[in-house]
Amino acid sequence: MRTRFAPTPSGYLHQGNLANALVNSWLARQLQGEMFLRIDADDEPRFRPEYTEFIFESLRMLGVGYTLFTPDLGSRTEYLKSQLSTIPSELLFACDCSRSSLLARACTCVEQHKTWQPRVNALRLRLDTDSVSRIDGADYNLHDQFGDVILWRRDDVPAYHWANVIDDRDLGISHIVRGYDLRASSALHIHISRLIGADNVANASYQHHSLILSGGGKKLSKSQQSNARPPTLDLVFISEVHTAAERLANELGIAVP
Ligand SMILES: [Zn+2]
Repeated sequence: MRTRFAPTPSGYLHQGNLANALVNSWLARQLQGEMFLRIDADDEPRFRPEYTEFIFESLRMLGVGYTLFTPDLGSRTEYLKSQLSTIPSELLFACDCSRSSLLARACTCVEQHKTWQPRVNALRLRLDTDSVSRIDGADYNLHDQFGDVILWRRDDVPAYHWANVIDDRDLGISHIVRGYDLRASSALHIHISRLIGADNVANASYQHHSLILSGGGKKLSKSQQSNARPPTLDLVFISEVHTAAERLANELGIAVP
């Protein structure tokens, strides 16, 4: 049994992110498995070392144990790129639409059979208009949710969904616990996993919990301003994360140690 906590260091984690880490670690404990910490730093422009430091420090304060996933950053991009060959090539196409042109008209690149050139165009995965994945008893039409999803960005960076599926495959992840807002992403990851034969990801146990809201009832978001100060890791903060995690664990039927 293997689960994971996979934050993106694009801001200081909030209490909802950290509650998710606790719940994942409790599930690993309950099932005598292992939790991996995977820091998803592929999106370098938003990455800041102090955000990563905050992840380590807050998990230490919370007493969360984990196995750190440390990919070889020197070869990571080429490795993830090489894994694109596991997708049937007829499902991939190069797209040079800009964000602004997509607002004006739909992408028709699939019919134009362009050559994929990293740093010139992006690589998309065709999602048929009737491609459906079932998650938590609900059907998701992937094309409606994602269009033809980008797997490799125009700036030669793996897209989040692609890196996520390959990392989960390679780590042998069997249980995925994440927020309700990522249900459609889970449906997409199952679809991609089936395409590439990543059985552990396609058949993983997926659980989605409700979101931790701010005092005003708004969705929490990471603080990303360059002048943002990290949340104060004091006993009040830590006990609030614990309380939130207990509520999520109860919701999912996960034992609170
Ligand atoms: Zn296009």
